[in-house]
Amino acid sequence: MTTYFSYLPSKLQDELKKTAEAIVAPGKGILAVDEANDGIGKLLAAVNLNNTEENRRRYRQLLFTADDALAENISAVILFDETVYQKTDDGVPFIKVLQQKGIIPGIKVDRDVVPLFLSEDEVTTQGLDDLAKRCAAYKEAGCRFAKWRCPLKIGTNTPSVRAIYDTAQILARYASICQSQGLVPIVEPDVLLDGDHDIIRTQKVTEIVLAAVYKALNDHHVFLEGTLLKPNMVTPGQACPKRNTPEEIAVATVTALLRGVPAAVPGIAFLSGGQSEEEATLNLNAINRTGLKTPWVLTFSYGRALQASVWKVWAGKDENVGRAQAELLKRTKANGMASLGKYGGESISSAAGYASNFNKDYKY
Ligand code: 13P
Repeated sequence: MTTYFSYLPSKLQDELKKTAEAIVAPGKGILAVDEANDGIGKLLAAVNLNNTEENRRRYRQLLFTADDALAENISAVILFDETVYQKTDDGVPFIKVLQQKGIIPGIKVDRDVVPLFLSEDEVTTQGLDDLAKRCAAYKEAGCRFAKWRCPLKIGTNTPSVRAIYDTAQILARYASICQSQGLVPIVEPDVLLDGDHDIIRTQKVTEIVLAAVYKALNDHHVFLEGTLLKPNMVTPGQACPKRNTPEEIAVATVTALLRGVPAAVPGIAFLSGGQSEEEATLNLNAINRTGLKTPWVLTFSYGRALQASVWKVWAGKDENVGRAQAELLKRTKANGMASLGKYGGESISSAAGYASNFNKDYKY
């Protein structure tokens, strides 16, 4: 066991580093199913189901009871509070179902956003007050990592210096609190797809945000080897008329990361941010094929881009569960291959394919 210079005790360093590295094991990524109740409610409504605790449980059960082959490409799952304590029809806790498959359970701990007063439609993320207590309880329940998302919007004058500084401080406080309780923090500064800006603007903004975030993490003595980053890919805004190829997106993304993310961070797991399933896979594949020398594992932590086909095929009906689970496995396999730069487009036939997953001001 190597003890790094850090203010953290060496046993805690070792635990955090091992967990972070296991999450970004080769060919694996994260399944993000931490939609808050409002967010999943919209998806349930689209398949004519009421937003009840039972329907939310039925849907998550479908995901977690998929074939054990799920663990070949999924190392970890991000849960929402309610899901941590739910069970299968047979009374087995979801956390246990995941652990038995060798999948690491984690938890979304931010409490969503509120407007940043006197800003141009910017937001700030809540949830720091009782975070240490909540982290301790989640650790007790079997979670080994946490996630916190801070969205930033590109506009004429945004993100403002104030919003970037606020994001950096909040993510650093969150990361330090998680580590104090033995959870690996997944740090998620999300430069949103909303807008008509070009890819160069996204790259510059992403670089500025990453620089601010890592300065703050450093100031708060966060042990970087025991963290992961969950960033946006560098793409043009969703309404930008000029579209870029996966190869252009890959070079812009890796360049921004090389300029802003310390090599001590073991892995980077991208959010999909409203990209279609197929786009998110092709872009990740290209990111792993730029030929640029990168010190971290580059993989996925997708929500929408792993679940769009599942929702489409399930359609809220028990008789479709098996086919919906097969769709999940197709997408996890495709993204597992993309995380190695070996995706050849073989699951192009998945149900949602190139259908956009973009929603303005998306709330997870
Ligand atoms: P998407 O992949 O749907 O953007 O999800 C992002 C996220 O933060 C989920 O944890």
